[in-house]
Amino acid sequence: DIYLDASATTPPHLDVITKLKDIQFECWGNPSSIHKVGVIAREILERSRLSIANKLKASSDELFFTSGATESNYLALKAVSNNLDRGRIVISSVEHPSINLIANQLRNEGWDIKYWPVDSYGIIDLDLLEEVLSPPTKLVSIIWGQSVIGSIQPINLIGMECKKRNILFHTDATQVLPCGLIDWSNLNVDMLSASAHKLQGPKGIGLLMLRKGIQDLLMKNPSYGFKNGSIRSGTESVPLIAGFSTAIDLLNEYIEVKDNQTLFPVNNVSKMTSLLKRKLINNKHLTFIGPDKERLPNNLSFLCHTEAMIPIKGREIVRLLSKHGVYISSGSACSSSSQGPNPILVAINVDKTFQESGLRITIGPWISNDDITSVSNIIFESLKSLELKKQ
Ligand code: PLP
Repeated sequence: DIYLDASATTPPHLDVITKLKDIQFECWGNPSSIHKVGVIAREILERSRLSIANKLKASSDELFFTSGATESNYLALKAVSNNLDRGRIVISSVEHPSINLIANQLRNEGWDIKYWPVDSYGIIDLDLLEEVLSPPTKLVSIIWGQSVIGSIQPINLIGMECKKRNILFHTDATQVLPCGLIDWSNLNVDMLSASAHKLQGPKGIGLLMLRKGIQDLLMKNPSYGFKNGSIRSGTESVPLIAGFSTAIDLLNEYIEVKDNQTLFPVNNVSKMTSLLKRKLINNKHLTFIGPDKERLPNNLSFLCHTEAMIPIKGREIVRLLSKHGVYISSGSACSSSSQGPNPILVAINVDKTFQESGLRITIGPWISNDDITSVSNIIFESLKSLELKKQ
């Protein structure tokens, strides 16, 4: 079997599984207890937090653990709505559904929600910068690396422009962190979301990074439940946090961020992705979509069709490939289980007839050269067999 759906989730790394098992057995205490069992759990938790903070060049007290990026996104947008006078919130037209959901909720609470449009490659239109950042914009939230078509946004530039105008800036970095370490000390970002299960860590644990001033906004109004001095209620899961830290330890290279550019490390994942791209790019059944350069280094996305350009549904190919032990996606995990046009393909203006024809391949460190050869052969054969069926 060959798993090429890394942006949906990843297989936990063996080191992560070992860590989870060890901590579950040995350090199951409540980190809020003041006796020895609790103190040991607290030590593991704080050591893990410090380790992640060091890796991401942040300070420990800027790191908050959540249940995943969905919750991090929710809390980030809630931070403003709870505490600021109503105004405008700007999000891109290619956000993860979790951002769209909370944005819709905030619209019902009286906020003006503006979508920052993208071009046909999925990159936001910087010509509109002055307009979207004009008053009364209070918060901007832009996905750093798009999960369906891989487009990378110039978040450091946008963040800098937000800072000049006293606008809060959040970015969803869920699909970026698996591609390399983030240098928080060098980012013009106030709030950042990430998730462990996208980088071979455990499910159910995410990260919200918050600059000092913003933490107060959230702590004044904890979103639910009770926990003094925290943005989030409930007993922390020390095993999941330790497992997250182990997954981050496995990342060793940094992403370089210039004002307008995100430069990813060249590694086995990016090499395997380029190799597969070269093998598939001239396939008569596939049209490559999304940007060429400003792109997640593990992402390939296509529209599928017959040689005569009759659309083929992505779901049809996903099911067929699954029978051959190749696992890919027809979009994001959330939208691939629902019918209908993919909202990201709609946002980049893909012709209506092709809006259900998306196919996404996302590669992880477990993929080898031989896997790429097998996968490209299986994809070729499968597309050919579908072509014959349609004739
Ligand atoms: N944001 C992006 C860009 C994602 O791709 C995902 C996962 O699909 C999420 C948020 C949600 O992450 P989680 O499963 O940790 O809630």
